[in-house]
Amino acid sequence: MAYENELAIAQKAVIAAAQLCETVRRDMVPEAMEKQDKSPVTVADYGSQAIICKALSEAFPNDPVVGEEDAAELKQPEMRDRLQQVTQFVEGVIGTVMPEDVTRWIDHGNGAAAKRFWTLDPIDGTKGFLRGDQYAIALALIEDGDLKVGILGCPALDLGQGTTGLLFTAVRGEGTYMQPIAGGEAQQVKVVQPGDSARLRFVESVEASHGNQSEQEAVAKAVGITQASVRMDSQAKYGAVAAGEAALYLRLPSPKYPDYREKIWDHAAGAIVVEEAGGKVTDMYGKPLDFYSAAKMNDNRGVVVSNGIIHTDVMSALQTG
Ligand code: AMP
Ligand code: MG
Repeated sequence: MAYENELAIAQKAVIAAAQLCETVRRDMVPEAMEKQDKSPVTVADYGSQAIICKALSEAFPNDPVVGEEDAAELKQPEMRDRLQQVTQFVEGVIGTVMPEDVTRWIDHGNGAAAKRFWTLDPIDGTKGFLRGDQYAIALALIEDGDLKVGILGCPALDLGQGTTGLLFTAVRGEGTYMQPIAGGEAQQVKVVQPGDSARLRFVESVEASHGNQSEQEAVAKAVGITQASVRMDSQAKYGAVAAGEAALYLRLPSPKYPDYREKIWDHAAGAIVVEEAGGKVTDMYGKPLDFYSAAKMNDNRGVVVSNGIIHTDVMSALQTG
């Protein structure tokens, strides 16, 4: 199997990070600190990035990691207690470490896109994480601009099969697998098949400002989706499409933030997980998402994720809508 070592190491790291995140949610009421761009970050975001970057830097020292977080603020003297907290949670999962190790691992995620690199969202959907809802740990390997490996940990996801906490993994050309994050058998998953009208549902963000909910509803209606949307935080939405629980995920630009550009770590792992399950991922104009050039997808607008079959209909609805 291709990328066997990459998958094994990345999967183990994501599971360890998920354990840290769930411990934070159980042991403390996670508080949000505010980053300079006003987006929230918690001790779990930092701890998750530290654990995953440690594993990647040891196994693949030459691969840059483009991660969402950096340790600049955490290294400030007034943040000493916070760093101590992050260090304790990391120790709870991987054993004794020093605070300096933790900040060094986090900053390993400050890499830039290259011929081969990883992209990481240590907690995607931090707002969902804080609310007690969905969030995801999303890690992907990109080579020559193409997604090669994706690991999507969704510690709070329950798709009605009696398991809470699901891990999706995909390797280019080899399908998508889903397994309980707590351990158990992996099963191959497929997107919604033609004629399965019961699962012709669509998913979108809980946060109204991360999309355009009225436009999303109109497009879904135009392609024959009559059920109300299922709202879910994070790339867990990609998991729902990959597992055939929804046929469409729409993320159209918010009229409030017309200049917002999507980030690669918010989509890379989810995109390969859906593609390898038979689905399609483009921007709202049908352009492939650019995972290669930079952390911000400057030349893409919005994201459309589907089971493939309805993708052209969605594009037509968007053009005429
Ligand atoms: P979701 O949980 O799907 O709503 O997505 C969470 C992600 O939305 C965060 O990781 C942010 O990077 C991203 N985000 C923040 N602001 C916006 C925006 N105006 N439009 C789209 N995505 C955004
Ligand atoms: Mg995110």
